[in-house]
Amino acid sequence: MPVKSEFSDVSISTSPYYAKVLAKILEHHLETPGRAAFISAENPNESVTWLELFDYSHSLANFFKEHRFERGEVCCLVLPNCWQYAVGFLGVTLAGGAASGASAMFTDYELERQFIDSQATAILTDETHLERVRTAVTRASLVKTILCIRHSSNPLPQGVYDFAQAVSSSARFEPDNKNFSPDDLLLLPYSSGTTGSPKGVMLTHKNFGTMTDVVLNHFHKVMYPEVMPGYEPLKESVLLLLPFYHIYGFGLLMKNIFEGTTGVIFSKFDPVLLCQKIQDYKVQQLFVVPPIVIFLAKHPAVSKFNLSSVKMMFSGAAPCGKDIIDELLNKHKTIRFFGQGYGMTECGMVSHLPAPKAKSTISAGRLTSNFVQKIVDLKTGKECKTGDRGEVWVAGPTIMKGYLNRPEATAETIDKDGWLHTGDIGYLDKDGNLFVVDRLKELIKVKGLQVPPAELEDLLLSHPKIRDAAVIGIPDSRSGEAPKAFVVRADDHLSADDVINFVKSKVSSYKQLTGGVEFLSEIPKAPSGKILRRLLRDQENAKKSK
Ligand code: ATP
Ligand code: MG
Repeated sequence: MPVKSEFSDVSISTSPYYAKVLAKILEHHLETPGRAAFISAENPNESVTWLELFDYSHSLANFFKEHRFERGEVCCLVLPNCWQYAVGFLGVTLAGGAASGASAMFTDYELERQFIDSQATAILTDETHLERVRTAVTRASLVKTILCIRHSSNPLPQGVYDFAQAVSSSARFEPDNKNFSPDDLLLLPYSSGTTGSPKGVMLTHKNFGTMTDVVLNHFHKVMYPEVMPGYEPLKESVLLLLPFYHIYGFGLLMKNIFEGTTGVIFSKFDPVLLCQKIQDYKVQQLFVVPPIVIFLAKHPAVSKFNLSSVKMMFSGAAPCGKDIIDELLNKHKTIRFFGQGYGMTECGMVSHLPAPKAKSTISAGRLTSNFVQKIVDLKTGKECKTGDRGEVWVAGPTIMKGYLNRPEATAETIDKDGWLHTGDIGYLDKDGNLFVVDRLKELIKVKGLQVPPAELEDLLLSHPKIRDAAVIGIPDSRSGEAPKAFVVRADDHLSADDVINFVKSKVSSYKQLTGGVEFLSEIPKAPSGKILRRLLRDQENAKKSK
């Protein structure tokens, strides 16, 4: 029997529509108009109040309407994290459009691909990225409006609109919900592209409206009363470290807007600045990805700062193993709660969130409100027993409408009964905690036995002379595949044999590093925190074919 969430359902957001909800929230924050909505971490003089956020968002919605940006059209946001990103999303949404975030680090080729794939008709970018955007736009024929944030007094090229002017009118915008369908597109995020090309994930007003309610409900009913009793959002500063174009970073941006906390925005990840800002703002809760956990657990620079304000820490987007979490909690004794959440772009952000009573730091969380789940045996297609590993399937009202223009990929991912096949292998314990073993596509097969690279990576990270690690399977004539480790040393004296012998002493024979060890200066990771094992595999293949 599929398992239903233990948490009571939130009512499904079919009405009023998300733009109306956001308009109300913005209006509500006018009760404290002069408070900072966002501050730049790099440059604290760069900030925006709730009043400004209100005015700019309404003004931008008016701009879009004047420029015939019609309901249902897509605007791509090509920006590093900045407060204007929030205004861009709010303006687009109020005007009835859908927003699609793209990485500001994308090449013009990657941007072109997203502009064409998303059928974007408008782009919001800044001066730094404008040339790349303009090159990319030459083949994206649907784009009719480019808006640009200026950082200098240089004039903008003809046909490019100045963001500052677009947000300068103070006329209110009334979102229109005539003919509105809760199944209208609200967001078009792209999946991280860890396993292949990123795909456009269609999230509707109903999907993301419900997701927002589910997350806020969980934090305010389950997490805060237990971990941070007396939590007063209006007095909190929350660090927004993760990229807004990724669903996790975007979800945190929305959480900030709904709660009215002050968001301290990092335009790029800078570990020392992170410590500095925790200390400056006496930050109580941290939302991070595993590379940041590794940094806070292992990096010597961390001890130069006072991070004792942190009470709650939450990691997601990729697995975080026991050894590294233990190291973190040993070093930072004031953290009362560490938990992980699990999800994917296709489920609207998260299907599992941590709960204090779960008492497990390595679980990927408990099934959250409005979801059902089952663990399915890969061979038989039958539901697994508690404790047995299989593919994680989830269903609920926040699951995407589908991949844009990819009906076959959609049908492979969501079955006719509405189950999202996550492609992740996991198991449930008797209390309903989910444990994610690894991605099905990335399990290493040694003599027919499965080796999850995440397990070996966590083990390697427990070695004091290892700063970071990644494991992949490489072809092996005897065993099919052999685990190979890529290691970033914290100490140059560490040899490949030391690493191999360390692993030998800890795990079964088929999990040994028979594929060898290679030292790197850095492990390739996506800005969303995921190890890009695909790149390591490509490098291996390139070496072989030489
Ligand atoms: P693509 O689908 O384009 O290859 P992606 O799957 O990395 O990229 P996202 O939607 O950003 O794109 O990430 C979802 C995936 O992240 C999940 O399927 C899972 O593999 C991984 N993930 C998320 N949270 C966790 C977690 N707590 N533990 C383990 N893995 C996680
Ligand atoms: Mg995926």
